[in-house]
Amino acid sequence: MTPPPTRILVTGGAGYIGSHACLRLLEAGLDVVGLDDLSRGHRGAFEAISAAAADLPGSFSPIEASISDRSTCEAALGDHRIELVMHFAALAYVGESVEEPLRYYDNNTGGAISLLQAMNSTGVNRFIFSSTCATYGEPSTDRIPIAEDCPQAPINPYGHSKHMVERVLFDHAYARRAADPAFAFAALRYFNVAGSDPKIRIGEDHRPETHLIPICLEVAAGRREALVIHGDDYPTDDGTCIRDYVHVCDLIDAHIAVMNGLAPGDARALNVGLGHGWSVREVLEACRKITGHPIPERPGPRRPGDPPRLFADSSRIKGEFGWAPHFTELEETVATAWAWMKARPNGYAG
Ligand code: UDP
Repeated sequence: MTPPPTRILVTGGAGYIGSHACLRLLEAGLDVVGLDDLSRGHRGAFEAISAAAADLPGSFSPIEASISDRSTCEAALGDHRIELVMHFAALAYVGESVEEPLRYYDNNTGGAISLLQAMNSTGVNRFIFSSTCATYGEPSTDRIPIAEDCPQAPINPYGHSKHMVERVLFDHAYARRAADPAFAFAALRYFNVAGSDPKIRIGEDHRPETHLIPICLEVAAGRREALVIHGDDYPTDDGTCIRDYVHVCDLIDAHIAVMNGLAPGDARALNVGLGHGWSVREVLEACRKITGHPIPERPGPRRPGDPPRLFADSSRIKGEFGWAPHFTELEETVATAWAWMKARPNGYAG
């Protein structure tokens, strides 16, 4: 067993999930390089992480660059003697991916390949990839909860762009066996991610925001008039879609558990979710309870490509890597997101 890595490159380090990864790795005493082109990430996130790092055991080095900038990635990997890459940098709007597929394949798939090439040329051989349950597409009802062997059949360019990276990784790991038997990777397939750093140093700030929990909270904060429920005639108990919401800090703990448990030669795909779901109406009620605000709602049409129920069978990562989520109550997760929104009503903009 190789010792766990101590010098980590986090791509997308100024984005929602990547910034939480930087912070938790720093809290664990590791040396972190955050790389982000700031096209979707926030300079304010880099600043907040740098400020927090002053009181944390690890060191933080932000770099403003694209994952497709091969020479800068090689320099970052080499100069900082990086041992493992956590790759979060990606475009992640399903609708946008339908409108601009070339951009998604270029950035998400091509960018990941460029990053792997930079790792190859600098001898960095451990990789954790931010994949998604969108790679499963619309699984048949008898496959729910979704396990890793559920057939992958994405239904939009975003899901395909991530699925293709998984394919590349399995092929690359196979090809590297002779030259570098230690090459190892894990693709973590996330379900829904929510919540914020409980100490409110960083948080979720998507522009535009499309996710259910922050939208409910924006209504509570007076930034929107009502939550539009995208379909209330699904075959579920209350007619609205069911999703598996994992707290972002638990998600990062999953990465750290896998990082520490990854064995040389590993090529793994692992689901990350709580294993049960909440309906849109249940989420809305949790947001009402936590904010004390009525949060008006109105019915809207179904959103194309929304399966009625999606939740994970995460027994593999729990059993093999000892991952155990701490935020098991939806209200706890919502409370951290609400604390961030109250503290930073305009997110990183002010
Ligand atoms: N949703 C909704 N209204 C909104 C945003 C989302 O009804 O304004 C629903 C959406 O249709 C889905 C669930 O909430 O059933 C979770 O959506 P989100 O975009 O947060 O995550 P997704 O599951 O699409 O990745």
